[in-house]
Amino acid sequence: MLDIKDKKVIVLGLAKSGISAAKLLLKKGAKVKISDSKPSAQLQEEITLLKDLDIETGGHNESSLIDCELIVTSPGVPVDIPFLRKANSLNIPIISEMELAYQYLQQNLVIAITGTNGKTTTTTLIGEILKTAKQKVVVAGNIGNPLSEVVDKIDKDYLVVVEISSFQLQTIKKFRPHISVFLNFTPDHLDRHKNLDEYLKAKARIFENQAHKDFMVLNADDSTIMEVSKQFAPKPLYFSMTKKDFKNGIWIEQNQIISRFKGNENNICQTQDIALIGPHNLENILAAIGVSIILNIDLEAVRKTLRGFKGVEHRLEEVACINGIRFINDSKATNVDSVIVALRSFDKPIILIAGGRGKGCDYSRLNHLLSTKVKALILLGEAKDEIAKQVDFNDIFKVQDLHDAVELSYKLAKPKDTILLSPACASYDMFKNFEERGRVFKEEVAKLSQ
Ligand code: ADP
Repeated sequence: MLDIKDKKVIVLGLAKSGISAAKLLLKKGAKVKISDSKPSAQLQEEITLLKDLDIETGGHNESSLIDCELIVTSPGVPVDIPFLRKANSLNIPIISEMELAYQYLQQNLVIAITGTNGKTTTTTLIGEILKTAKQKVVVAGNIGNPLSEVVDKIDKDYLVVVEISSFQLQTIKKFRPHISVFLNFTPDHLDRHKNLDEYLKAKARIFENQAHKDFMVLNADDSTIMEVSKQFAPKPLYFSMTKKDFKNGIWIEQNQIISRFKGNENNICQTQDIALIGPHNLENILAAIGVSIILNIDLEAVRKTLRGFKGVEHRLEEVACINGIRFINDSKATNVDSVIVALRSFDKPIILIAGGRGKGCDYSRLNHLLSTKVKALILLGEAKDEIAKQVDFNDIFKVQDLHDAVELSYKLAKPKDTILLSPACASYDMFKNFEERGRVFKEEVAKLSQ
């Protein structure tokens, strides 16, 4: 366990994770300073929450590194900012908020989920299965519940299910999940990682401290994951939509989900028994079943959860059906791959609302699905011109905001159409975050039936 008493620690990032880390450190007796690059005017709410703390805003002053013994970073803080480079040159340890919290766990069994897409859905689903099976479980991490917030509230018998991003993994030291899950790997976050290789290396660190007796649940359809996982120690359990007959794995045969582990084969359920929509979510489900099998969870609890679990807010969330027109909020789809999987999830004609702050993605990858499934593309936000330029599609409408987007989509729609907000972009140009974007979309949809 980390001995931090009376030591000076700087926490970078004054948002949820940073605030939880700072509170945990204070409890453990550290002398904490919390620092954010944003000006104080943008952080009033957070500052009032932390009245008793030494708070620095508008940048990080390098002079405070002099007697600093540890730096804890929030996931939103890039590892290569000058302040951290300077700290590195002074040999000050830099760890992520997740690593900090991990070091205060009491040998709990940890299940960690990473991947480009599907982390929150899979993490939530695993938590739900374990709850249904009456396990003591806590779900934390990037999911909006920092691990630092919960470590002091649980005993050693709790199963700890954490969603972990590449940004948190970049600065782990001892973090060692007993079961790691690597869902998929596709280009994303190229705004934050120097290149794809750096992004992959960060993600693969999830395996780094795992031992031979630990497990890794791997997507056997993803050649990058298959290749990168080879060099690590834990035992693999594979899941796949296309391959079958693994020694240890989960697969689908004629709509039947089958698992095999330590020589035991089981029929889990039929794919049509599952409440979640979308072929991509089936992959998340296979991964969650993989974890359940390793933990020897009662299969009835797994089946019951799969029948009831409808997914997480802002991910292909059905908002309303007005005059036979279905509205779907997929505000969390902040990259092209998420939009591709969203478009594949519906058979009926789609009116797609997209745009926001671009992340350097290649929007032309949407061309095939646009031409086969989409009847109109409504674009907004900073990236609207770039998207319009890159895609090969005629029925494009550019609008100012979500209000106009929803109104126009409704005007263009006919009964049985689906109106899908799936932006392919981050939200920060117009909203605080994707949650706010999703909420505004839902409010605008609600106005249509008033
Ligand atoms: P994350 O936490 O990794 O961002 P979420 O579960 O929040 O993942 O889902 C984010 C978006 O990614 C969703 O909008 C969904 O469309 C897409 N998605 C979810 N699961 C997968 C998957 N297995 N493969 C590809 N895309 C997915």
